[in-house]
Amino acid sequence: MLKILSESEDPALEELLEHAGEPDAVPLAPEGGIPRQWLPGWIRWPIRVMMLPTILLDLSMQKVARWIIRPPYKQAGTCLKRGNCCHYILVPAPKGILGKLFWLWNTQILGFYPRSNTDHESEGKKVRVMGCRYLGQDGLCKQYRLRPTVCRKWPLIEYFGYPRMLKGCGFTAVDRK
Ligand code: SF4
Repeated sequence: MLKILSESEDPALEELLEHAGEPDAVPLAPEGGIPRQWLPGWIRWPIRVMMLPTILLDLSMQKVARWIIRPPYKQAGTCLKRGNCCHYILVPAPKGILGKLFWLWNTQILGFYPRSNTDHESEGKKVRVMGCRYLGQDGLCKQYRLRPTVCRKWPLIEYFGYPRMLKGCGFTAVDRK
């Protein structure tokens, strides 16, 4: 899963990214409202709670690895609490059995919902732009303690490639050199 990137090769997605960089770029809810999840809460929430130790362990190990071997860029700046990185989340389009299972995970367990049924192209992959039902009107996360890995890792600064962050977000990436 990707949160939205700083660069795209899809003109429609590029336009959306430009718009997302505007300070007042709060997208409307999809027509007909945010779709309800059909998976009951008594299944969803225990799964998320059970996943939490694995997520935290994984992130701690990544933190140690990054402390030992530093990535080429480091994060600077601060979160402006605009919530835009939660308004525009890219996930792979539901293609094939694995793709459909991953889609179910994203929509039914994590609570993301598609902003439209349009496929976009990003880094050579078909993706959909999603919103998150847990983003409050105040721009804060209503499920902060149980938020998914992608939300904990954002903005993404990897060992290879240019860092991924939303235009207009308060973070920047600084070259360590
Ligand atoms: S779970 Fe929270 S941090 Fe993650 S996208 Fe939703 S509102 Fe944002």
